[in-house]
Amino acid sequence: MNPSIPVEVLAVLDRRHPRGFDFADSGRPVLSVHDLAATRGDGVFETFGVRAGHPQALNAHLARFVRSAASLDLPEPALELWRRAVLAVAERLAGVEFSVIKIVLSRGVEGSGEPTGWLSGRPAPDHSVARRRGIDVVVLDRGYRHDVAATSPWLLQGAKTLSYAVNTAALREAARRGADDAVFRSSDGVVLEAPTSTILLRHGDTITTPDLGLPILAGTTQDSAFDFARSVGLKTSFSLPRVAELENADGVWLLSSVRLAAPVRSVDGRPIRVDEQFTGALVQHLWDRRD
Ligand code: PLP
Repeated sequence: MNPSIPVEVLAVLDRRHPRGFDFADSGRPVLSVHDLAATRGDGVFETFGVRAGHPQALNAHLARFVRSAASLDLPEPALELWRRAVLAVAERLAGVEFSVIKIVLSRGVEGSGEPTGWLSGRPAPDHSVARRRGIDVVVLDRGYRHDVAATSPWLLQGAKTLSYAVNTAALREAARRGADDAVFRSSDGVVLEAPTSTILLRHGDTITTPDLGLPILAGTTQDSAFDFARSVGLKTSFSLPRVAELENADGVWLLSSVRLAAPVRSVDGRPIRVDEQFTGALVQHLWDRRD
């Protein structure tokens, strides 16, 4: 490995430090075993791509971080401090073609009343095969209705919380069924999102994504994908897609900040058309984002 490329960059928010955060040694423990992040998954996070030291869609990620923290009644993240800390971590990753930064805010050590914040950055995993060749997905019932975000706001739908055990369980279930990823549907048959991605569908000259009133996370990559679609003359819309619309789509993609866009090549074993040209152009657009 090239010694100038860091394996991991870690920084911790620290009020006592003049700049409000400090770099930490990733080989040493920095989190208390009593931190509510560790014991209850009680906190929020963001993950974003960093291209040669430039964080992608940083404003959108920070805005969602603030919204997620508000849903959990966490103290409002000091945006400018987080931005400076992100840029400092990103700068140390400037020699890496594509890396990933994760920022986390937890409720802190139990009983302390002080939130804990930290950031970690490392080279991104290589997703080029999924982007090029496509992925097989299975549809899994999320177990609640499509209107649950309105009826049960305490389920924190739409917030990017640290509690991802259900999401990773769904990915393991997909693997057991021989697939690469899962697509959640509501118990009443509406397509929602994937465990770590937003769903994009194409029917003719219209690109659609599940409506943001559904119990899903508002994707930053989806937002950029809509910009791209409009720039090439396609229409964009939000909808309540039914599972059958996945199967008869002219294209389906899973979008996320690090894998960018992975075309779906089968749903529950039924093949879906993969538009290599559109996928290539979309991935290039997402890859080239500078902010
Ligand atoms: N939906 C869920 C549940 C996610 O966890 C993620 C990303 O991790 C996304 C959608 C995609 O969001 P973004 O494009 O902002 O990475």
